[in-house]
Amino acid sequence: MSVITERIVNQGHGPLTPQYLAVHSTANPGATALNHVQLWSRGYDYAVHMVSDWTSCYHTVQWDRLCWQVGNGNSTCEGIEICEATTRADFDRGIAIAASACAERLRAHGWGVDRMHPHQWFSATFGGSDHTDPYPYFARWGYTWEAFAARVQNELDGTAAVQTSSDMEGKEPLMWCIIWIEDDHAGFAKGTGCLWSPGTGVLPLPALDCVNALNAISQHYTGKDLPVFHSSSKAPWVVRFEQLSRESTFARRDHDTDAILAAIAGNAGNAGK
Ligand SMILES: [Zn+2]
Repeated sequence: MSVITERIVNQGHGPLTPQYLAVHSTANPGATALNHVQLWSRGYDYAVHMVSDWTSCYHTVQWDRLCWQVGNGNSTCEGIEICEATTRADFDRGIAIAASACAERLRAHGWGVDRMHPHQWFSATFGGSDHTDPYPYFARWGYTWEAFAARVQNELDGTAAVQTSSDMEGKEPLMWCIIWIEDDHAGFAKGTGCLWSPGTGVLPLPALDCVNALNAISQHYTGKDLPVFHSSSKAPWVVRFEQLSRESTFARRDHDTDAILAAIAGNAGNAGK
């Protein structure tokens, strides 16, 4: 399953044989990937091969066409613009999508993560640009280039996983989360809380107390609350969760499906008291 949607809207500036992957951020907080697709479709000179936000990643310029993106190093690189989010949740989603897209492109070239660099590196290495992105954007959210590179590396290693719930069917659960259904969606009523894990799939929870019980179990095993996700994205919410789940994966493998389900069942009896 590719995270990249084909949406070629710009021809760039001549042929390209890239050696590197350049990572940018747009410096235009709140503007979406589609906003950029629309801008770049109007003969814009500075279109880049990909643009991603908190719901999507678009492939906008053919891979073998040169983009004006990093100054003197333009002939060396394929690139991605990461749209700048204005909320923590969107930032996290955006990082997940961008990391998946970068991993896909590195894999397509047979490159390691050492071929992926921030715009700042191209500015320093080749000149002709003084941009330092995406450092300032990452820093605003307490994030680092090193963390991003490590995440892409994880994707390349396959440790983070598993692209679809069908891939995970029958496998040992690596992660759990609570999903709040904020819109009527996928057959679940608005306001439903669901447990999701690779082992159980989506499991509606009968009462709010179940969430507390699950959190208690999570705290016991991991010292952390269960991650909570919301279904308000226009993207299919299961897919959206899977994109997010890599960041939020509980690495420990000692979660016990039966214990959690028993806790749900036990706690359901107390609901409303
Ligand atoms: Zn840039």
